[in-house]
Amino acid sequence: ANRKFHPADTVVDCGHGVKIGGGNFQVIAGPCSVEGKNLLTIARRVKKAGATMLRGGAFKPRTSPYAYQGMGAEGLDLLIEAAGELDMPIVTEVMDPRDVQLFVDRGIDVMQIGARNAQNFSLLKEVGKTTTPVLLKRGMSGTIDELLMAAEYIMSEGNENVILCERGIRTFETRTRNTFDLNAVPVLHYLSHLPVVADPSHATGYTRYVEPMALAACAAGADGLEIEVHDCPEKAWSDGSQALTPDQFDRTMDRIRAIRAVI
Ligand code: PEP
Ligand code: MN
Repeated sequence: ANRKFHPADTVVDCGHGVKIGGGNFQVIAGPCSVEGKNLLTIARRVKKAGATMLRGGAFKPRTSPYAYQGMGAEGLDLLIEAAGELDMPIVTEVMDPRDVQLFVDRGIDVMQIGARNAQNFSLLKEVGKTTTPVLLKRGMSGTIDELLMAAEYIMSEGNENVILCERGIRTFETRTRNTFDLNAVPVLHYLSHLPVVADPSHATGYTRYVEPMALAACAAGADGLEIEVHDCPEKAWSDGSQALTPDQFDRTMDRIRAIRAVI
């Protein structure tokens, strides 16, 4: 992952003609969890607004074992159906090394490693044995060096298609869900050739802060954004408090384009 051995920016090919890094900027949008047929409604709206990749969790890492755990393989099928109709790559989380082959067999475009699994070394090695691009999130209390070492676990097994993601870290601050470490964007670009995505949804935890911090991440040089969007946030099965409605997402995309036009 070290730029010393690889001066040029890595461009990761996510499928469906979508590339990220080295000047290619992409917006990944969709619900926190795949919940059912509303996925297609959300996917159509985010695509229309300009998102280029569709996200949605089918396997969810929840703090409580009694909270909604995701639709599992059935959720992957819904993502595949939506992505097929809209010709967009899918980004979805894999939590268990035993599921990696299922994701590969289903042709999932990008496997997400969530913050809670950022140091699950057996999972990192398992996705490293595939050629599927990996969106690797920074650990909840992970340092930048730990994130880069997690990337090394994947790359040392042969998979160099790694996208790094800053999603906020745990600090003493309680007014936001996490503290968005925007420093990480230029620091990661300095240290590494890998593309860097920022996730203002998990980094802030509140809908009202997502747009300003999405714009800030663009200004800081992020190669992409991951943003949660839900057609009815108050009824979302997870992370409704940080979801944008499709109308809010339209406006945020307009403002992202405006910022990107001047940087
Ligand atoms: C998610 O993307 O829905 C998610 C669980 O993110 P994180 O791992 O960053 O908390
Ligand atoms: Mn979420």
